[in-house]
Amino acid sequence: MAPDAAGGEPTARAVAVVPAAGRGERLGYGMPKALVPVRGTALLTHAVRGLLNAGCVRHVVVAAPPADVEVVAALLRDADLPADVVPGGADRTDSVRRAFEHAVKAVPDVRVVLVHDAARAFTPPSVIRAVVAAVASGAPAVIPVLPMADTVKQVDFDGTVLATPDRSALRVVQTPQGFATDVLTRAYAEAGDSATDDAGLVEKIGVPVATVPGHACAMKVTTPFDLAIAEAVLAGQENS
Ligand code: C5P
Repeated sequence: MAPDAAGGEPTARAVAVVPAAGRGERLGYGMPKALVPVRGTALLTHAVRGLLNAGCVRHVVVAAPPADVEVVAALLRDADLPADVVPGGADRTDSVRRAFEHAVKAVPDVRVVLVHDAARAFTPPSVIRAVVAAVASGAPAVIPVLPMADTVKQVDFDGTVLATPDRSALRVVQTPQGFATDVLTRAYAEAGDSATDDAGLVEKIGVPVATVPGHACAMKVTTPFDLAIAEAVLAGQENS
């Protein structure tokens, strides 16, 4: 147990699983997205450092592109960031499954597991701590969310609008997503087909998913535009 950001309530120390095995083709950099530099340092390095610096993460397991396991392990070692690196899978869900299986073997007594996209490398520590604290307080699953700024339309295959969902009831979902270890184990065993996020698997097994406020800096770097924003965000963090 470690003190949380407020210095008072104890916060459980979680294990973090980091899926970083995507090819990152939408970035057009010709290398896995996790290795793309932002102000000279790989996205993954920023992400792992952010987790370890939050003060509530005791072990990190990264799923790397299978061909780049050694490269990724060396990258983190050179940055003095202790982390296990395992080969990722064919899709994000498969990568998380592999890293999660490794994590529970490496830290058998872990009660709180975070799943954090390497692409959300600039998530503020306050968000990471809020997710861990909520799971440690008894929530089986917790995700950071933001309100929708845009109106959203549901469309058919031709792009014709079918419906306009009530924006006030919609949220944009970020990571890290936090889970009681037994809940994530069950979700992957019972509903572990492909999903865009892990909370989706937990929903499928009927377990409630709570939310905490996310943050604009927890944006996912997907396109060259996002990369430019990330450079600006990091410059701002470095100068503050
Ligand atoms: O492609 P997308 O940005 O949605 O991927 C989200 C996260 O999942 C990224 O951090 C990416 O590296 C990871 N991923 C993975 N294994 C895959 C595909 C994506 O770990 N096979």
